Amino acid sequence: MVQALTPKEILEALAVWGIPNVQESGWRTRSNAQGWRDVTGFMVHHTGNEVSDAVEVKGIIKGRPGLSGPLANFGLDDQGVVHLVAAGAANHAGGGDVRVLQAVQLESYDAFPPAPRFTHEEFLAGAPGSVIGNPRFMGVETFYNTNLTDKARQTMPRLAAAMIWALDRKDTDNAWTARSVIGHKEWQRGKPDPRNVDMSVLRKEIQQLLTAGPTAAHLIATDQNIEVLLMPNIPKANLDQIRVAVWTQPSASTPHSPSMWRIMTQMAAQVASLQSAVTELAKNPAVTADELMVITKKAAEDAVANALEAMPADEEIPAPPPPAPKGRRGAAAPPADGGQGNPP
Ligand SMILES: [Zn+2]
Repeated sequence: MVQALTPKEILEALAVWGIPNVQESGWRTRSNAQGWRDVTGFMVHHTGNEVSDAVEVKGIIKGRPGLSGPLANFGLDDQGVVHLVAAGAANHAGGGDVRVLQAVQLESYDAFPPAPRFTHEEFLAGAPGSVIGNPRFMGVETFYNTNLTDKARQTMPRLAAAMIWALDRKDTDNAWTARSVIGHKEWQRGKPDPRNVDMSVLRKEIQQLLTAGPTAAHLIATDQNIEVLLMPNIPKANLDQIRVAVWTQPSASTPHSPSMWRIMTQMAAQVASLQSAVTELAKNPAVTADELMVITKKAAEDAVANALEAMPADEEIPAPPPPAPKGRRGAAAPPADGGQGNPP
């Protein structure tokens, strides 16, 4: 289990993975009435409509008679652009099967999770073993009914990979893989979506992306991700040293040494000064993107070099913790816990 991603974490993930996006007004605070409980996975949908992207976005934000919005966290349009609709929980998953929830939580399935046993109506009627998905799944509505565009199909696995990557970073106890991504049709009996997408193929694509990881080639320079933009300019060997030395979680028996705290403080100060310098530079139209890259690269390398210099040579640097075993996120939550929400 992990807490929901913050708007900042969502934006950072989209930037790192180079996913084109539009921030719809109010998305940071938009939520359904129930809110998040914990985040267990990511769900893919189609809207079942053949209307314009603008009409699709409005519909997801506002909802429809009998079902209030937001109807998804993200909308994926025909151009492959992600519309940020709600950082809060959305009415997209509806009632589903606790066996599927558990299979996703534990990532304990192979090509497909167990077939879902319940419709949304059966969940509303209190069918034992049915469970609400909205507070547990992030969701994307893809704007199509029969055939999705090539561009949307290209963005689909990248968006899912970006969110799983962000959730994995946030969850310090468990490793997340593509098995945390399911289709609506795998959650609820009778659902067709996402139509014409083989979820086992999609998961393979997502896992390939996660295994390869985001690269500098994915990066887009915007004022939102200037911090992220700096990171690829630091030599990987230095980054690895710093990551291990600074960010390895100390345990109660082996806390960070005073010198380590000194280094962390020093680095934080350097990063802060670097950020304000970059912010100022970015405002100057006379500075070209290439010049900005050179300046920030130099500043980042200096900051890293100073931090490495300050690191005591004789101090033992703890090894990173081993990856978490696959018994992840505990047992499934109790079924039949109320709620609403069941778009196409
Ligand atoms: Zn759906």
